[in-house]
Amino acid sequence: MTSTAIAIACTGVSVRFGDFVALSNVGLDVATGQTLALIGPNGAGKTTLLNALSGRLALSGGRVQLQGRDITAEPIHRRARLGLGRSFQIINIFPEMTVLENLRLGAQPMVFGLQPFWRGVQAWPGLEARAREVAALVGLDDALDMPAAVLSHGRQRAVELGLALMSDPPVLLLDEPLAGVGQAEIQATTALIERVRQNRTVLLVEHNMDVVMRVADEVVVMMAGEILTRGTPEQVRADARVRRAYLGG
Ligand code: ADP
Repeated sequence: MTSTAIAIACTGVSVRFGDFVALSNVGLDVATGQTLALIGPNGAGKTTLLNALSGRLALSGGRVQLQGRDITAEPIHRRARLGLGRSFQIINIFPEMTVLENLRLGAQPMVFGLQPFWRGVQAWPGLEARAREVAALVGLDDALDMPAAVLSHGRQRAVELGLALMSDPPVLLLDEPLAGVGQAEIQATTALIERVRQNRTVLLVEHNMDVVMRVADEVVVMMAGEILTRGTPEQVRADARVRRAYLGG
């Protein structure tokens, strides 16, 4: 496989918090267009790996590449501008602002690449149209003028995803997009993830194995800061080590 067929990759990544080794020599690559799920017990290092890839924390060692380019030294906003989107486990939106206002803020990585930052996001002429397009994509076109706080948890998730989609990132990191979503909204939120993964590369941390089986092309299992195994969802579910370590079988 050539380097351009890999959307995002890391090699030899280690992260330490004091004496504690959260990631130890992790190597991972996600092929362009692939949806890869990261699973593993709590504390395995899944969120830390997303943070290492997105630039939210400093590496103790290793390198990160985005679409064939070494981004190890790039700060978080540069990685965003280079096409790396991110959503968070804890919903990261502005509850008192409307859906439309939230989506406008999501345009920042894109706008900052085009004009001096002091002109602000509002000055981008395509902003309104893009916000409406994204709202339609995530099923929020009927809620544009509502404060995010009044929406259900599942629809707040959709706002969060919408924020990440404003800059149309070719590579998207999703940290537990179903966290806190009630049973009644799991189907709708899963369908949304399926829509969002079209035409982009997605690395997804997710505990819900039904969802993983439905959306992931491949699964990587993490344990204690290392990669235990990688395979198709079926292979991983059948792996005795994974069942012992994680699935309780
Ligand atoms: P997962 O996402 O797989 O549940 P995390 O990546 O959140 O695991 O955490 C991996 C380990 O690193 C955990 O033991 C966690 O307590 C520790 N950890 C994560 N972030 C920090 C931090 N900022 N400082 C100290 N320890 C941390």
